Amino acid sequence: MDFFDPHIHVASRTTDDLAAMARAGCVGVGEPAFWMGYDRSHPASFFDYFRQLTEWEPRRAANYNMRHYAWLGMNAKEAENVALARDVIAMLPEFLDRPHVLGIGEIGLNRCTPNEMTTLSELVELAMQRGEQMLFHTPHLDQKLRGTRMILDLLRADRRVDRRRVWIDHCEEHTIRLVLDEGYWAGITLYPTTKATPDRAADMIERFGAERILVTSSADWGPSNPMAVPEFIFTMRRRGHPDALIRRIVYENPLELMGQSRGFDFASEKSQETPR
Ligand SMILES: [Zn+2]
Repeated sequence: MDFFDPHIHVASRTTDDLAAMARAGCVGVGEPAFWMGYDRSHPASFFDYFRQLTEWEPRRAANYNMRHYAWLGMNAKEAENVALARDVIAMLPEFLDRPHVLGIGEIGLNRCTPNEMTTLSELVELAMQRGEQMLFHTPHLDQKLRGTRMILDLLRADRRVDRRRVWIDHCEEHTIRLVLDEGYWAGITLYPTTKATPDRAADMIERFGAERILVTSSADWGPSNPMAVPEFIFTMRRRGHPDALIRRIVYENPLELMGQSRGFDFASEKSQETPR
């Protein structure tokens, strides 16, 4: 089955991973800008990282017939350094105008500090001024509920926000309903240990339905699995779910969300290629 992995840090993965994903049916990936496992010292490091995500990674994915789309922003971990964050935010517009960029992400909270909130508010302001889609990272488990609520409060207070163009990611059983009830897209992260397993994701879909749900590997440089979406497909089939439902979650839903960005050109290319 063709699928998208709309949240994966392929810059941290090997070409073997890309080849395996392509063979399993992956037709496209979304790569949000994130923390690279170490704090960067200078704004110029972000400049090069944004070039990597908009210039080299698309070419690397294309070698395996996969489309590559980027989200750009200041991640929650390094956002604690507000001065650095402001320099990075100032360089975002020139990159956001590049082809195959979907919006501002992943942004959000890590320890839910006042500095993180300052940076986050400034990123949301930039997104609103430019009409960008947004992808939010919610914190790890000990701060998950609190951080999710803080993000939802921030968005609720801004009447410019179009919730159909906002994706709140790393939802779990205790936060997904808050996100869906307010009309946002909800991401479920398939991780081998923390976050959700394919079975827990299937449980959540059986409880809450498939509308505005995305499942992703969020694979990065740490313990994670770039083949998590095909494992989810296998899990759903084993439970007897029809392929139409599974395809909606792993293919049609990502197309619908990402298709709202001016940088997303997959559908138009596909329709040109399809013989009439
Ligand atoms: Zn991520």
